[in-house]
Amino acid sequence: MEKLIYFDNAATTFPKPEEVYRKVDHILRNVGGNPGRSGHRMALSANRVVLDARDSVARLFNIEDSSRVVFTSNTTEALNIGIKGFLKPGDHAVTSSMEHSAVTRPLKVLERINVRHTKVKCSPEGVLEPEDIKRAIRPDTKLIVITHASNVTGTINPVREIGEIAREKGIKLLVDAAQTGGMLPIDVEKDNIDMLACAGHKGLFGLQGTGFLYIAPDIQLEPIKEGGTGGNPEMDVMPNNLPERLEAGTMNTPGIGGLGEGVEFILREGVEKIRRHEVALTDRLIKGLLDIKQVIVYGPKDANKQMAVVSFNLKGKDPSDVSFVLDSSFGIMARVGLHCAPDAHRTIGTFPQGTVRLSSGYFNTAEEVDFVVSAVKRISSL
Ligand code: PMP
Repeated sequence: MEKLIYFDNAATTFPKPEEVYRKVDHILRNVGGNPGRSGHRMALSANRVVLDARDSVARLFNIEDSSRVVFTSNTTEALNIGIKGFLKPGDHAVTSSMEHSAVTRPLKVLERINVRHTKVKCSPEGVLEPEDIKRAIRPDTKLIVITHASNVTGTINPVREIGEIAREKGIKLLVDAAQTGGMLPIDVEKDNIDMLACAGHKGLFGLQGTGFLYIAPDIQLEPIKEGGTGGNPEMDVMPNNLPERLEAGTMNTPGIGGLGEGVEFILREGVEKIRRHEVALTDRLIKGLLDIKQVIVYGPKDANKQMAVVSFNLKGKDPSDVSFVLDSSFGIMARVGLHCAPDAHRTIGTFPQGTVRLSSGYFNTAEEVDFVVSAVKRISSL
């Protein structure tokens, strides 16, 4: 079989650590029953799987009380719960011009119930100035929602500084860590994060269909879905206690078990080691691309200021054609277009055609980066 080179880790990581495959296989074969429902032995094992995964997530992000980690089906669901469950009519939120649709669309729909928001403009490199956030805060501002790093340019936002501003003003901070969880150190206490939305299937090495939301102890969210929770079946509304309040319906036990195993892998390797590898690959990729005359690279163009996400275009070529040839002629998996973040492309000047995005991961190698660069060079001369 042709060897495929996977550079779409910002969408979902591939491959996963061996331990994750083994864990999911084990759960599917041996663990029946729904966690928190039946009292039989298998259901208790399912419960253990979910509890252990909650503890692993809590350890990675320095969350004191793991019951404040709510499992979701992806980052999008976590952001929807955080945004819609928190903001009330008359409230105002501050966000940036580099956000994913998982932030912009929930905020847009809330305009119908008189929740307003301000989008702070970032620089063409995707850089957000904390002072601009400060200026956008109004007396009715209740929430700042910000991506930790852009999925288009990889630009890392100064979350801790923004968190300090939020604390000073008595505003809550919701961070979209889809592109940073497991790949950049995050400490909800030190980083002043009140809510953390994260994917399970990207940097945490879990399966698609997993994610989580952390909610600080002084925040009570309205659920966005109601249903069975196992406990409190006599109540006709959702219970107040977490995580049950925000976890209606049967849980994705195999997916959550896989996610927990992915987090354990990260805890063993160390986030710093993972980051060092990704910085080295990104540095090599950026330098290699910048050496090609027709290439335009977007974003900071500095591996230390961004994640392993590099967007580029070839002058005079349609990004869709470039991406098609990368796959069909070279076996390189890249993502093209607007990456569900049209505002980000407006900010960096690539709307509506978009960019080709190359996102390496922990399992990519320097040789693969060199092959990708040589492929782009070949395409540039066609
Ligand atoms: N936010 C950002 C910054 C993202 O990159 C993504 C995924 N592309 C999302 C939110 C949505 O994540 P999910 O696919 O897990 O819902």
